[in-house]
Amino acid sequence: MLDLVRVRFAPSPTGHLHVGGARTALFNWMFARKEGGKFILRIEDTDLERSSMEFERQILDSLRWCGLDWDEGPDVDGDHGPYRQSERLDIYREHARKLVEEKRAYYVVYDKEDPTRELFSTFDYPEEYARKGHPVTVKFKVLPGKTTFEDLLKGQMEFDNSTIEDFIIMKSNGFPTYNFAVVVDDHLMEISHVFRGEDHLSNTPKQIMIYEAFGWETPVFMHIPLILGPDRTPLSKRHGATSVEHFRKEGILSRALMNYLALLGWKVEGDEIFTIEERLQSFDPRDISNKGVIFDYQKLEWVNGKH
Ligand code: GLU
Repeated sequence: MLDLVRVRFAPSPTGHLHVGGARTALFNWMFARKEGGKFILRIEDTDLERSSMEFERQILDSLRWCGLDWDEGPDVDGDHGPYRQSERLDIYREHARKLVEEKRAYYVVYDKEDPTRELFSTFDYPEEYARKGHPVTVKFKVLPGKTTFEDLLKGQMEFDNSTIEDFIIMKSNGFPTYNFAVVVDDHLMEISHVFRGEDHLSNTPKQIMIYEAFGWETPVFMHIPLILGPDRTPLSKRHGATSVEHFRKEGILSRALMNYLALLGWKVEGDEIFTIEERLQSFDPRDISNKGVIFDYQKLEWVNGKH
């Protein structure tokens, strides 16, 4: 057993729980359960326009239906609710301020009439301009060099920093951007392993730069290949139903869906159905296939029939 495994699932409440998200959550949950660790649920609701409480409620509902229970969070009526980034804004602001103090980030002041036009940047908080209604963001300073990390599935990854421009960490509305909030939270929540969809791979070098700027240790990263439709493009609404909620309404048993997702994209795949309990005994995330996997509706129905 590894010491202190702490993993998380961090959905943005901008839609229903997609089967790809459920599979990511399942792998994190299985790893925590196998290693006697903790599985944390964090709602990433910093995109005000796209997030809604209704989607959050539905995601939580779908996770419960899937049997993916989480271990920690603020107390809500004697139970633990998920962490919610919108309730942690002071923490991100404080950390952004620290980076500015250390000259690893700076303020950018924008034109009032044309908020896409940068006027100037400064290490001192531009109070006067902010008061007059100029938008102000905080940008992270990218240093020259290379950013490297070892991905559990993909091996050694290397990014040239010259391909990454200074990027916003705090928006003008006072909310953090995804890359910043995720690093601050993963660090403060003592996350040991970050297992997430491959669509986030290009964000990881930015996140590693932020860890380095703070002098924090990085977690182990693993980017899970996406679930594909029959045409080998990422599974989306175009392919038909993709939400857990849909399969639930169709009468698919949650056990069948979870067993099917656990079986999908495994290096040692066969026709045999593994139950999650069987998978758990020998669960090793490195056995997840390194290639995208096709979601096969017929096979899901076949597994459903067996339960
Ligand atoms: N909020 C991100 C998403 O829903 C999670 C990314 C991550 O796990 O770091 O895609």
